[in-house]
Amino acid sequence: MFSPWIILPEYADEFIAPEDDLKRCQCDLYPITLREHLWSVDSALRKLPLMPLSPESTSLAPDLSIDSAIQARELTKRYGNFAAVDGIDFHVTRGEAFGLLGPNGAGKSTTMRMIAAVASRTSGTIEVAGLDPQVHGPEVRARLGVIPQQDNLDEELTVRENIIMYGRYFGLPRRYLLDKADELLEFAQLTHKAKARVESLSGGMKRRLTIARSLVNEPEILLLDEPTTGLDPQARHILWDRLFRLKERGTTLVLTTHHMDEAEQLCDRLIVIDHGRIMAEGSPSELIRDHSTREVLEMRFGMDRNAELATALERDLGAAAGLGFQRVEVLPDRLLVYAEDAESALKHLHLGGHKPVTSLVRRSSLEDVFLRLTGRSLVD
Ligand code: ADP
Repeated sequence: MFSPWIILPEYADEFIAPEDDLKRCQCDLYPITLREHLWSVDSALRKLPLMPLSPESTSLAPDLSIDSAIQARELTKRYGNFAAVDGIDFHVTRGEAFGLLGPNGAGKSTTMRMIAAVASRTSGTIEVAGLDPQVHGPEVRARLGVIPQQDNLDEELTVRENIIMYGRYFGLPRRYLLDKADELLEFAQLTHKAKARVESLSGGMKRRLTIARSLVNEPEILLLDEPTTGLDPQARHILWDRLFRLKERGTTLVLTTHHMDEAEQLCDRLIVIDHGRIMAEGSPSELIRDHSTREVLEMRFGMDRNAELATALERDLGAAAGLGFQRVEVLPDRLLVYAEDAESALKHLHLGGHKPVTSLVRRSSLEDVFLRLTGRSLVD
């Protein structure tokens, strides 16, 4: 394992306990691109010892006997009186894909920053690979790969150069990097773009390159902040496939998302977060089973009629046997009927004279879980 010292700008709202000149220098490294990063530190580095790059320099070897990749207890982050993360408990097992699902402002990124050892906590405890990020920041960061929300690739370099430069910054040997870059490009399905400049890549390709680059130091844990936000469906599926392969190889994935389909596709287990608190925890199917019905009937009755009809529908469906009816949810544009057998619920409503303009029967999703738990939709 090698020791990355890059502090990504999206994660570095503060830096934990800088202890020496080198760390103070790195404290100021909020790179937009690697090149800018290197420019900004060039003069400082001339006066400083080389960065700690060898495994020896980040002395704490990973303890492979520890089954837990991350363990948080009563983890809290306050900004003044405001609790962005409000006493959460969770654990991530080695090799699993773990999700933090919640709307914007829920506290997902703040939690990630505390895991990534670039934000301090106000109280509580957290261990990453058995280490306290606040005490062993460099050692923890050495074990992580970080995919920030915004790609911060160097647009002027080629695809391959981006990986090599990134690795060089970590002090990885050039010979190692030449082979590693080819391996990672193949993994990211970007071999044919090796000599292309980054600016010519599509959004999905840039994302894959960012992931490839983050793997250069063979991290144990990959932190992904909104990995596919902004990508088209095909690009998302390719990315999911790559992440799935990483998981198969044993890499622990921790991702934030406000896309329920992403959470369902990728996560073995997840926590649903809102206002800095955990609303529920489990596998996608457990969460759906525990907090929703098997099926959902979506209906539109036309402008302004949805709310007015909800009470009548609840009365009719509540009196019917065998539907497993649970409740009706009123959204601005439609009604959601939660029932184990939504097809039969629709038939029942038709027989009762209800004539929706459109209707759709579907399986329950994590979106329904979130709606149930918070009374709000996940997507703003
Ligand atoms: P999410 O990633 O779920 O969208 P964040 O963790 O980014 O949410 O933010 C959680 C809450 O903390 C938000 O209300 C945000 O405005 C607030 N917050 C985040 N960073 C800071 C900061 N540096 N100073 C003050 N408030 C912050």
